[in-house]
Amino acid sequence: MLHVVALSMAFLCALCGSALSSSLFAAPQQTEKPAWCKPLPRPEYKSLARIPVTDPWFEVYKVARDTYAIYESHQSEETISYLILGEKRALLFDTGMGISDIKKLTAELTKLPITVLNSHTHDDHVGGNWQFDNVLGMGTDFTRANAKGSREDARAEIAPGEICGALPKGFDAKSYATKPWRISGTIHDGERIDLGNRTIEVLSTPGHTPDAISLLDRANGLLFTGDTYYPAAIWLYRPETDFLAYEKSIQRLAALAPQIKTVLGAHNIPVTTPSILPTLVKAFADVRSGKATCKPVNDKQQLCTAYSISFLLSANPSGVHSH
Ligand SMILES: [Zn+2]
Repeated sequence: MLHVVALSMAFLCALCGSALSSSLFAAPQQTEKPAWCKPLPRPEYKSLARIPVTDPWFEVYKVARDTYAIYESHQSEETISYLILGEKRALLFDTGMGISDIKKLTAELTKLPITVLNSHTHDDHVGGNWQFDNVLGMGTDFTRANAKGSREDARAEIAPGEICGALPKGFDAKSYATKPWRISGTIHDGERIDLGNRTIEVLSTPGHTPDAISLLDRANGLLFTGDTYYPAAIWLYRPETDFLAYEKSIQRLAALAPQIKTVLGAHNIPVTTPSILPTLVKAFADVRSGKATCKPVNDKQQLCTAYSISFLLSANPSGVHSH
């Protein structure tokens, strides 16, 4: 969740009235592009190998050997899920928006049995969870509450200005919601998931949410950071955000930087260099000490920037020194 422009548009459109919203939903082919999607396609994708798939809602890129980024470029979150293949099993790290059929998509990419694991359980990362039988989750109340499904957050994702281009054929805006899912097993910090000649380690990295995790593929030097780090404004304004936990989590990730080749975040652009992790620690320290440059976005939120990394905070966050 990251586009400030889209966000303020959504905020304005909260005042637009339902008549306008329903008329826009009836005509998903918008004539004018929302501002957030004008810079798309992002140039960073040019250097990645694109994998052809049948569903135009998803763009799939090979980001490392047996590792695919599943990018939803037509919605303002620009969410990225990852399919990580071993020899015996595949791990699907997030299931995206639930706007199109990610299960059908993954069946085109692998015949291996798939285990779903979420970077955290915000609506834009769990939309396809209900489609899978094997869904692991952290043992937090936050995870269990979100697994019951919800409507409000999902509805906001398809508000006017949030979609770029066409919604998938057959998509029903009226019934769109985050569907409930069954948590088939609990995972813990330090757990190792054996995919067959490939081991993925689970790192608990709370802060953005209480159930935020990162995945470490130590042998291949890959660190999947979810929403703990992605190359756009990092959302830390919701009530479930915990600054102290976030600070500890990013310090833990930064300590891994020398062992990592690629950092893979959950929005906008899939690949970042590991040197971003110590910079993230410095930038967030500046935010907490009041040294970052902050500008109001609206009456509820502010955007704070240090070392070229931005954070979206609430207007009066606790745990941040203000001048
Ligand atoms: Zn999130």
